[in-house]
Amino acid sequence: MAEKIRVRFAPSPTGHLHIGSARSALFNYLFAKHNNGSFVMRIEDTDQSRNVENAEEKLLSSLKWLGINWDESIDVGGEYGPYRSMERLNSYQKYVDQLLEEGKAYHCYCTPEELEEEREVQLAKGETPKYSGKCRYLTPNQKEAYEKEGRKPSVRFKVPKDKVIEVHDIVRGKVAFESNGIGDFIIVRTDGIPTYNFAVTIDDHLMEISHVIRGEEHLSNTPRQQLIYDAFSWKSPKFAHVSLILNQDRQKMSKRDESIIQFVEQYKELGFLPEAIINFVALLGWSPEGEEDILSREVLVKRFPLDRVAKSPAVFDIAKLYWMNNHYIKEASLDRIVELCLPYLQKENLLPEELNEAQREWVNILVNLYREQMNYAQEIVELTKDIFVDELTYNQEAIDILSEEHIPVVLSEFNKQLEQLEEYIPAVIKQVMKVVQKETGYKGKQLFMPIRVATTGLTHGRDLPETLYLLGKEKVLKRVKILLTNKHID
Ligand code: GLU
Repeated sequence: MAEKIRVRFAPSPTGHLHIGSARSALFNYLFAKHNNGSFVMRIEDTDQSRNVENAEEKLLSSLKWLGINWDESIDVGGEYGPYRSMERLNSYQKYVDQLLEEGKAYHCYCTPEELEEEREVQLAKGETPKYSGKCRYLTPNQKEAYEKEGRKPSVRFKVPKDKVIEVHDIVRGKVAFESNGIGDFIIVRTDGIPTYNFAVTIDDHLMEISHVIRGEEHLSNTPRQQLIYDAFSWKSPKFAHVSLILNQDRQKMSKRDESIIQFVEQYKELGFLPEAIINFVALLGWSPEGEEDILSREVLVKRFPLDRVAKSPAVFDIAKLYWMNNHYIKEASLDRIVELCLPYLQKENLLPEELNEAQREWVNILVNLYREQMNYAQEIVELTKDIFVDELTYNQEAIDILSEEHIPVVLSEFNKQLEQLEEYIPAVIKQVMKVVQKETGYKGKQLFMPIRVATTGLTHGRDLPETLYLLGKEKVLKRVKILLTNKHID
């Protein structure tokens, strides 16, 4: 019988969903869907000092926004629960006891001060610090003495000596680690709570996880986990460590790197579309067959084999992300993009909270006109600022254009025609331009440029009749009138 594919994304609740973690989540999700498997979302919260309040909700909501939906987790349950490590403490105990009984783990009574001292001595000698194994062979009397002192033991895994630990990684092939480089590591802290390496192994085993797909930063943890699998004679899942993400300067991405938008929540706040993020993140370290870059979720699911995940680091190219999001913005329905843009305009008090029908129509035209230029929705504010500004100032280029000889003729006619207008909509404004052309004999650039510069102060811009419509009749007339009485064009 074919192996049942079960994968998991196992974030620790330490903050918002990072874009790198979103990639791990996505690769797991795509792999599960591609193979009709199950995608498990498990919260790894045993490192309580790192846990952050509300982080769990934030992680869940970012994943939901991206549409990375899980089959089993803390909210929907499942057969392999609980899905929060701290609720699984009872499941771990039995395995800790087993390792202790079999002599594969031992109690360690070293205090943090003693461990620090040991570390400093090793460092001073130029050695890589690792636990010396001091408590490996304590006699019952020594243990009793420590207990009497009130010391609480941690539990350490006894790392076998002189062993080569082989990890089979789908992305990297065979990766070998020397056991002598790994000190006996803590599997249960003095407070009785298991560490990540222990909990993750037990959880992955009990949850029958078939593939562990995660970031390369966890590769160095894998030999420890492999040792635990071996100690229980369990078959380990297949591992796939996805390469690091580099910034544009090809440096390892750090959480303080400002050239990268770090958290999924920030993308949402800036008005990115989730499908663009999915598409972009999927290509961070995975390349489909073929050249195309725009890949829908359905196509990604269909095409996602794990063996096309790259060994070399992925470079986070923000320009590509902008391009991709812009593509999806242009593809989306106008209603959706209007809904996305509105809050940014409202927040700047450029539009009221409640829109009447005319305002709605106006904003539809506004967004439609500018969406082609938008990398993300928040940019609507900057892109449209010339539409909202009350007083215009003309730069030298504009002044020069407005000083051309034929300008008063064009502007007066335009002014005259506008004043007579009853219906001020783009189609009618377009007609007005035609009439001005007929009446003045000026056409093309000689017609459009004066009107554009006079009403917007700019020599370039979007469709002129629509821009004039968006500015509103009153503003347009006011600007034209000021110029008609201005000495520059006298
Ligand atoms: N809890 C780990 C983290 O947030 C996940 C490690 C793993 O996937 O094994 O980085």
